[in-house]
Amino acid sequence: MVSAGEHVVVIGGAGFVGSHVCERLLRSGYRVTCVDSLVTGSVDNVSALRHNAGFRLVELDVTRPLSEWPEMPAPGSVLHLASPASPKDYQRLPIETLRVGAVGTENALELATRHGARFLLTSTSEVYGDPAEHPQNESYWGNVNPIGPRSVYDEAKRYAEALTMAYHRQRGTDVAIARIFNTYGPRMRGDDGRMIPNFITQALSGAPLTVAGTGTQTRSVCYVDDTVSGLLALWRSDLTGPVNIGNPHELTVRHLAEEVRAITGTASAITSVPGAVDDPRRRCPDITLARTKLGWEPETGLREGLNRTVAWFARHPGATARTSRA
Ligand code: NAD
Ligand code: UDP
Repeated sequence: MVSAGEHVVVIGGAGFVGSHVCERLLRSGYRVTCVDSLVTGSVDNVSALRHNAGFRLVELDVTRPLSEWPEMPAPGSVLHLASPASPKDYQRLPIETLRVGAVGTENALELATRHGARFLLTSTSEVYGDPAEHPQNESYWGNVNPIGPRSVYDEAKRYAEALTMAYHRQRGTDVAIARIFNTYGPRMRGDDGRMIPNFITQALSGAPLTVAGTGTQTRSVCYVDDTVSGLLALWRSDLTGPVNIGNPHELTVRHLAEEVRAITGTASAITSVPGAVDDPRRRCPDITLARTKLGWEPETGLREGLNRTVAWFARHPGATARTSRA
């Protein structure tokens, strides 16, 4: 059970999604400790929150033993969002990604369990791999290559889900698992390699938009405000999950590139680049569970979400050059 105004530890809170979570929690009157190593996140993402008396940023790698974590007030909840998340990031940080999914998740679960706090894991649609069932609902077990270049992320999240359920069953920890599908919006890094920041920064600079492979592979993209509403609805509920949090509007990658071209009015061409290894061919969430049990569904249309994201990138040209500490 979540209590009004409680202290929430947001691990990975200086990242793209995490910073929006911190912001929303503070706006709702919670006290927030953001714990982040800044490996793929940035102080810039939370700089506007630092004047808020209820906010604290702790720079820490959560794979460090729990005994070395700084003192902090007892948490009412622990929200675990820490992990490199873009294919470019997790493939340049393969061991770090496995460790934060394994050791980092165990530390976060220990912290929650010691304080009787509710724990939320941000898992991913990548646990479904290159799915043989379509759309994906939570009962599908997935189709993941355990040794391919994406496995460091996919298997770390699958292990993190298993560990979360083990703590729930053996130690009675109050847990929730969200399986987030592709999310986009302000504060993505322009150089994180994901399709939406790539297409937008390419379009804004007049460079060709790089569509991988045939461009017929699909994704279903959710605006960050909607994803955060879904995560917080799950957190406030008494569900364990897993629960899919995503937008069921499925699009081809080529169509997305064309949308970005139309919105930005760029003269950039669309160019083909080699497809990624083990790239899921299609992805679309079945969100029946979130709709019926959480009363949640995305509200932001593609054009609206892309317009806001393009406007943000246009106002933050440094988002492309901004480097993380890795
Ligand atoms: P992000 O890289 O912007 O944020 C991750 C944050 O975790 C960063 O601030 C990073 O510095 C921090 N971090 C990583 N390893 C850490 C460690 N060892 N110790 C402390 N902090 C560490 O990524 P994001 O897109 O905001 O994703 C947030 C979470 O949501 C991730 O767990 C990701 O797997 C999940 N998710 C995101 C998406 C998406 O489309 N954005 C989709 C599915 C799942
Ligand atoms: N992609 C692309 N051009 C790019 C970056 C990515 O066509 O510049 C493709 C990528 O191969 C994949 C899809 O877009 O098919 C989504 O990739 P992203 O990295 O955004 O997310 P994920 O693969 O994790 O869903």
